[in-house]
Amino acid sequence: MSTDCIFCKIINGDIPAKKIYEDHDFIAFHDIKPMAKIHFLIVPKLHVETLKDCKDVHEPLLGKALLLAPKLAESQGLVGFKTLINTGREGGQEVFHIHIHVFGGN
Ligand code: AMP
Ligand code: ZN
Repeated sequence: MSTDCIFCKIINGDIPAKKIYEDHDFIAFHDIKPMAKIHFLIVPKLHVETLKDCKDVHEPLLGKALLLAPKLAESQGLVGFKTLINTGREGGQEVFHIHIHVFGGN
């Protein structure tokens, strides 16, 4: 948990989001600026800033996150979809709490 992190605030319910899924380890919600007809983010509740900060201990979390993508995509009516993980400022990352973009439907 990081007090100045917008995704931690969503996880804590301090700011609203269009949530599509939640379990013990993850939350998923629609992106506020969608790049496609359907565009949501899979966000671990654990505050890790970037993919570069992940260690071996995070392997199960990363695996679970990827396996959620097709399940949630299907629940949103997507037959096929794209996934994206921006990493670091130079990699286009704007929110420094690791997340997977899932989008499609255009
Ligand atoms: P990234 O560039 O990979 O860090 O992507 C961050 C994404 O978070 C962008 O696509 C933003 O549109 C999205 N985003 C930022 N704030 C919010 C929010 N409050 N609710 C939903 N999505 C958000
Ligand atoms: Zn965070």
